[in-house]
Amino acid sequence: MRGGLARLDEEAHPWRTACAGPRCLPVKPASPETLALAGLGAALLDFALMAIIVFAGVDRYAPPQDLPWKPFSLEQPIGMATARKLASLADDPAACRAALTDGGLTFSEVPLREQGFCSTRDGVRITGGASLSPPGPLMTCGLALTYALWERQVAAPAAQIAFGQPLGRVDHYGTYACRTVYGREGARPSNHATANAVDIAGFRLVDGRRLTIASDFRDENAEGRFLRAVRDGACKLFGSTLSPDYNAAHADHLHLDRSRYRICR
Ligand SMILES: [Zn+2]
Repeated sequence: MRGGLARLDEEAHPWRTACAGPRCLPVKPASPETLALAGLGAALLDFALMAIIVFAGVDRYAPPQDLPWKPFSLEQPIGMATARKLASLADDPAACRAALTDGGLTFSEVPLREQGFCSTRDGVRITGGASLSPPGPLMTCGLALTYALWERQVAAPAAQIAFGQPLGRVDHYGTYACRTVYGREGARPSNHATANAVDIAGFRLVDGRRLTIASDFRDENAEGRFLRAVRDGACKLFGSTLSPDYNAAHADHLHLDRSRYRICR
């Protein structure tokens, strides 16, 4: 009976009918625009819910070093977001120092001295927690943090894999030097002029074995492979990484700096 009334109403009105109890009321059909908007709204809601579920899964299970919103830690292996986190910490002196401390490093502050294009701004000396030899060279905080991560997450694991033992020391030729690039008159200031670069000469293993960039870098043995591997690992963290493969001026050291020039060679 109700179905018959509905059919009669449909004939009387070009609209659909909505029946409630004994009466059927005409209902205006939705326009194509309204239907399209409703469909779009439902699709957007589905998309938002899916995005929330995916984000929660990534946040929960992805390695923190791959996620830009997770805090930096010297204890974490290098990930997709590590270089970006280092860059932001290098621009934030307080956060950079907190990251050093959180990583178990101790350091002393270096008073500001400026002379022409040379400066010790943001300078620290690592006094514990790193294996640099000679110890405690002047570094910008950003360089110190990047170096510490490279030593812990690149050089130390590579030594363990290559030689089955930890690193004893990391020998360097220096960090701060008030000079232009290659010491040429009229050239741009070197990153060494602001203590933003370190020159790595080689490594000592705990059994006393010594590896040098000058003698071992090109060898096809474990020593050579180790030195090239730590150079390649540095490229993921530092601005410029220059090795004997770059030019003769770097035949005996790895130049690692925090410049904005990205060179890996
Ligand atoms: Zn250098």
